Amino acid sequence: MHTKAQEVARVFASVAARYDLMNDLMSWGLHRLWKRELVAAAFVRPGMTVVDVAAGTGDVARLIRRRLQGKGSVILVDPSAPMLTEAVARNADAGWVQGAHYLISQGEALALREETADRITIAFGLRNFADPLAGLKEMHRVLKTGGRFVCLEFSRPASLLRPAYDLYSFFVIPTLGEAVVGDRASYDYLVRSIRGWYDAPQLARIMERAGFARVGWRRMTGGIVALHWGWKL
Ligand code: SAM
Repeated sequence: MHTKAQEVARVFASVAARYDLMNDLMSWGLHRLWKRELVAAAFVRPGMTVVDVAAGTGDVARLIRRRLQGKGSVILVDPSAPMLTEAVARNADAGWVQGAHYLISQGEALALREETADRITIAFGLRNFADPLAGLKEMHRVLKTGGRFVCLEFSRPASLLRPAYDLYSFFVIPTLGEAVVGDRASYDYLVRSIRGWYDAPQLARIMERAGFARVGWRRMTGGIVALHWGWKL
């Protein structure tokens, strides 16, 4: 019997090399727009320390880097060494070495001091946590007082969109996974994990239970994804 963490580790080790290509294909490039919205909503300023949890191949971290304008740093956290290895290569390729730090860690137990981060971001990561509430509490601990947490995650599409969305999720995505990555099971996991996830108001309540204040959210693309935010006050 595999734990969720073991299943998730297998999935991301298997998809790492083709992860970015699959994101573009599955979302028709929309993930780039959603990530830009996430980073805009984080209100990053030069000089800040930003922790990007579930950093994957580093898309979000590279957008944050632009906003830092050479001052401050980003700590990319991910338990998957294959995913972070891709991030290191892509960051280096983009000429980014100084100010990028890497931490192999689950989000539920960060090896970072309390009040380290001015901002914490997470994109499409929380759904993979074995214990999302513990992860949110841990990110709240690491955030500085006055700091902002921003989360991008799949959500519940509006009912009009659902038939087309279901067809796309259950048939097209696993087939693409098989064709592009040679791994249907990982994309079955993706679809299952989205189905089992909270809708936006439920996630907002869990963020409040973790200690975040002035919690809010905004649905995007008909509710396919939602952007969540909260402060540590
Ligand atoms: N943020 C990136 C993006 O949006 O392209 C990567 C998202 S990818 C769908 C999910 C990432 O979450 C993977 O890199 C995976 O290794 C990571 N992950 C899985 N379980 C995690 C956990 N418990 N804590 C932190 N990250 C986790």
